[in-house]
Order: sequence, then C-alpha cells, then structure tokens
Amino acid sequence: MKGRIYDKLCMIDDTARASALSADPTVFCSHCGASAYDEGSLCEPEPLPQGARKGQ
Ligand SMILES: [Zn+2]
Repeated sequence: MKGRIYDKLCMIDDTARASALSADPTVFCSHCGASAYDEGSLCEPEPLPQGARKGQ
C-alpha cells in the first residue's frame, strides 16, 4: 500500500517528513485530524479555521 499514498500526511509514518509537511498548516484532515500546509497531503482536507493556526 505504501508508495502511491505516501504523500498523504495521514499515512506518513516518517515523523521528519510529516513535520515538514505539517509546518505552517493551512488545512486539516476532517477524517483523521492531521494538519498540513498542502491539502494534497490529506485524505479529507478542510480549511483550518482562523485562529487554529500555529503561532499567532
Ligand atoms: Zn486523513
């Protein structure tokens, strides 16, 4: 199963890669709750509500 879906943050088990993809997140996964910068990294991407972002 790995390979094709490896770019889905939800499926990533490499924490370094997951961390890089989830830096400055703009979307979150409504399916599993992961957050990411690129909605393509999530299986069910939803826009992050303002105020839920990291930092300010
Ligand atoms: Zn997901």
